[in-house]
Amino acid sequence: MPTTETEEHKALRSAVSALGKRHGRTYNREQLWSEAAKLGYLGVNLPEEYGGGGGGISELSIVLEELGAAGCPLLMMVVSPAICGTVIARFGTEEQKRDWLPGIADGTRTMAFGITEPDAGSNSHRITTTARKDGADWLLTGRKVFISGVDLADATLIVGRTEDSRTGRLKPSLFIVPRDADGFTRRQIDMELQAAEKQFELTLDDVRLPAEALVGDEDAGLLQLFAGLNPERIMTAAFAIGMGRYALARAIEYARDRTVWDAPIGAHQAIAHPLAQAHIDLELARLMMQKAAYLYDAGDDVGAGEAANMAKYAAGEACVRAVDQSVHTLGGNGLTREFGLASLITAARVARIAPVSREMILNYVSHQTLGLPKSY
Ligand SMILES: Cc1cc2nc3c(=O)[nH]c(=O)nc-3n(C[C@H](O)[C@H](O)[C@H](O)COP(=O)(O)OP(=O)(O)OC[C@H]3O[C@@H](n4cnc5c(N)ncnc54)[C@H](O)[C@@H]3O)c2cc1C
Repeated sequence: MPTTETEEHKALRSAVSALGKRHGRTYNREQLWSEAAKLGYLGVNLPEEYGGGGGGISELSIVLEELGAAGCPLLMMVVSPAICGTVIARFGTEEQKRDWLPGIADGTRTMAFGITEPDAGSNSHRITTTARKDGADWLLTGRKVFISGVDLADATLIVGRTEDSRTGRLKPSLFIVPRDADGFTRRQIDMELQAAEKQFELTLDDVRLPAEALVGDEDAGLLQLFAGLNPERIMTAAFAIGMGRYALARAIEYARDRTVWDAPIGAHQAIAHPLAQAHIDLELARLMMQKAAYLYDAGDDVGAGEAANMAKYAAGEACVRAVDQSVHTLGGNGLTREFGLASLITAARVARIAPVSREMILNYVSHQTLGLPKSY
């Protein structure tokens, strides 16, 4: 793995950064989405034969990080091209690839992703959304919660369960559920978040789906699911690093100018050092994110799993600390609408909770890496 970025990656980073700066914090999500798509940024990870850029999660994470650093993150990149696009590209049928990938790549179609359930939460082994066969069709029933962007998406990739014909046990399977399918309803959750993307509670009541709605092989459910969850963690790390960088840049600008004694407040080490620490933490988190993306793009799903978890953890924590210190640096202005940093305090917490919480990553590392016993 290269420890410095390639010239191509640097060029991509600076081109996306220029686009992000043109849109800035007051961005219009739809305009930015379609502009980024036209420039090929949203489908940069998808195969060229289906309209993508032929790159990987390494490139897609650069795009999201740079948009975030400019104050205009596109949250749906985490789900549409990264999870859904990857799962369909790797495991979808030829028809599903032709049907979905060109639209996901050029931004004209979007797919949301729903795994979280109210009674399962972090314990996704406990999900109860179930698909049963009815002739050639599937009937899908269950509930989901906190699912992002369902209103913006043409369809949602729903994680459900089907019965294993040999053992009778329920195993995870993925279904493409169109937004307006009969029996598929959504209720917006009132979140304390200032974001263009909303979260929804979903009810699936005997939603009838054709056989082609099942993505990939019924018997490879778990493998397919993890193929999508590693990119999700890497992209959440990119989202967090971008946001942390955005907040930190505002704080540095402010600390250079604001003078209440003789020197600007940035000259006081009590202000400068925590900002320097926040910068170091974000850089370290990015290194781990790059490692995870590199392993994933090289086809090492197992190696990428540990690195993606660690990257998501490191980036989430670095983001929360960077935002907290940035708000503090602005004093009272840290809490004004004009400076726009206070709302990031809530937004930064998303990266600590989703898609897998800080504690669940610490559990994973305790058990998988350190070999410690489980408490649950
Ligand atoms: C803004 C936002 C967007 C989201 N978008 C999506 C989406 O698009 N699709 C989707 O499927 N989901 C989405 N989610 C859901 C997200 O993935 C979940 O919120 C997350 O997995 C945590 O689940 P939970 O909220 O049920 O918390 P719980 O599982 O109830 O956990 C609550 C607390 O208990 C801790 N905890 C639980 N079990 C343990 C344990 N064994 N050991 C130690 N601590 C434990 C957790 O770390 C957490 O701090 C989103 C969430 C948010 C906030």
